[in-house]
Amino acid sequence: MKIYIDGEYYEKDQARISVFDHGLLYGDGVFEGIRIYGGRVFKLNEHILRLFASAKAILLDIPMSPSLMSETVLEAVRVNNKADGYIRVVVTRGRGDLGIDPAKCPKPTVIIIVDDITLYPAEMYERGIAVVTAASRRLAIDGLDPRIKSLNYLNNILAKIEAKQAGCLEAVLLNPQGYVSECTADNIFIIKGGVLYTPATIEGALDGITRETVLELAAGLSLPCKVCALSRYDLYNADECFLTGSGAELMPVVSVDGRRIGRGTPGDLTLKLLAGFRRLAAETAG
Ligand code: PMP
Repeated sequence: MKIYIDGEYYEKDQARISVFDHGLLYGDGVFEGIRIYGGRVFKLNEHILRLFASAKAILLDIPMSPSLMSETVLEAVRVNNKADGYIRVVVTRGRGDLGIDPAKCPKPTVIIIVDDITLYPAEMYERGIAVVTAASRRLAIDGLDPRIKSLNYLNNILAKIEAKQAGCLEAVLLNPQGYVSECTADNIFIIKGGVLYTPATIEGALDGITRETVLELAAGLSLPCKVCALSRYDLYNADECFLTGSGAELMPVVSVDGRRIGRGTPGDLTLKLLAGFRRLAAETAG
């Protein structure tokens, strides 16, 4: 594995950054998680645009243009000769001192890791998973806008711990008003009465690239979509439920807080969307 750091490639054991990097000290930075299908990078442009938008929102000047960043990501994939895998792009505020002042960090750190993808077992897609609502909440939008994909994942991690303690893989985070935002690293959708629903970003959801892809697939299937506020009641009474993310793709959910969703098996429309997504990924692979 060859890891890109600030223009150089390093072996995994040699890939190091400073302990004074504000990404480490304060979670001060942004990142992306991107899939490689058949040697091709899925939705690269969308990920690069989101990376730069996140950076702009936190006043972080990425030291290269979006097109050079895209080329560098593609180069890192070639250098690692990876046909199917996962790319993590991280841009931190860079090395500073122990104070939080970002003005002490003259140069952002750019890291690109190309790794294998750890897939969920196939039977989870066939049977669906159970999720619980976490007590840990998504941060208020005026505290940290959920569209910023920042290195601050502590409340997502706390929610993940809650999920695991409950014997589940994933947890639903509510926003401070008690509406559903998303899961620890995935967006959430429900289907009710033939309509697809997902929380708006203003409710605390990341502007997920898989989420957007699913909305496009749904439009192609003439499945009506509503992006709006959802409560736990809406989840409990949904006909179908699923999660989306670059790693998970579309994961069917068959139980929320012990309430069975639909027939307790992945829903028909969910499976149709999953098949559509996999077709797109296969087309990307060529
Ligand atoms: N929400 C959060 C909090 C995430 O970290 C992610 C990415 N894993 C998602 C949603 C899904 O976004 P995407 O489809 O762009 O991977």
